[in-house]
Amino acid sequence: MIIVLKPDSTDEQVKHILDTIEGMGFRHDLSRGEKQTVIGVIGEEDRLREAPLQAIPGVQKVVPVLKPYKLASREFQAEDSVFDLGYGVKVGGGNLMMIAGPCAIEGKEILHEIAVAVKASGANVLRGGAFKPRTSPYSFQGMGEEGLKILQDVGHELQMPVVTEVMDPRQVELINKYTDIFQIGARNMQNFDLLKEVGSMNRPVLLKRGMSATVVDLLMSAEYIISQGNSEVILCERGIRSFDPSTRNLLDLAIVPNLRGLSHLPIVIDPSHATGRPDLIPSMSLASIAAGADGVHIEVHCNPELAKSDGPQSLLPDQYDDVMKQMKQMATMLGKTIPAPVAK
Ligand code: PEP
Ligand code: MN
Repeated sequence: MIIVLKPDSTDEQVKHILDTIEGMGFRHDLSRGEKQTVIGVIGEEDRLREAPLQAIPGVQKVVPVLKPYKLASREFQAEDSVFDLGYGVKVGGGNLMMIAGPCAIEGKEILHEIAVAVKASGANVLRGGAFKPRTSPYSFQGMGEEGLKILQDVGHELQMPVVTEVMDPRQVELINKYTDIFQIGARNMQNFDLLKEVGSMNRPVLLKRGMSATVVDLLMSAEYIISQGNSEVILCERGIRSFDPSTRNLLDLAIVPNLRGLSHLPIVIDPSHATGRPDLIPSMSLASIAAGADGVHIEVHCNPELAKSDGPQSLLPDQYDDVMKQMKQMATMLGKTIPAPVAK
């Protein structure tokens, strides 16, 4: 059972609620976030159902949730979550988040060139990594803070929200100064200290599925973030490890309707990392929209052969433009919107 407290509940009221729960013979787990305080009540199911928890002063609602993830679950919230991403762009509830940009920020000019192109094609969020989680310590590790400044500048100039990866709890404060949306990469999906840290911030989080993470693992990671008070979690499927080396990863497209039933959170598909192959990205992008995804994340580069990371899987701006044209048609057919960023 989950108890959601009224937003203005005082420390005294919280203590009273916890004492009352104990008095009823149940255990409790308090999570006090900036925006929301929630108490998990643990005990025998039948007795919990009968207990007059709703009557305790300070309680806003009582939600029976038997799943291990609670705040992320459909039982907790029946309607789809909709989040503001900046510049009037929304995701969820029929709004599609179209993320595009290079894998890594490599310099102002090149990022600007890519950003102008993808925005003209209809992308509404610009991506670019400044801290890169590379498999090899000898590969390009990203431009760091200098890259963040470039990303922010280009985002401001083109008036579109930006997303960038945070790899370490110690980077959260720095990256918070430059980005509109945090990205948690696949390799860090279960970095619980990092999840808690972004959970205490006031920005949407694009949470990528770990390479070997189950659907429940992904939702439990979302739960970590939400339980700290940040409910703006966007789930992202980017392919899972398989036995078959013919694609970089294996795109689990069924995760869209699967998650839709289990959770109210938006779901974005990343066919770039999922397939690693530009020849497969267009069809998998369309399939993502057809499956009901709330957005598509695509890596784009003007010079893939010179890109410092993930060049081989990057689409050229023209190729991105073609696939966007088709995705727009499909979105219209399904009654979905791709919100264009609104100048501030
Ligand atoms: C990326 O978005 O460039 C990236 C490293 O993604 P992932 O964490 O899904 O591998
Ligand atoms: Mn990449």
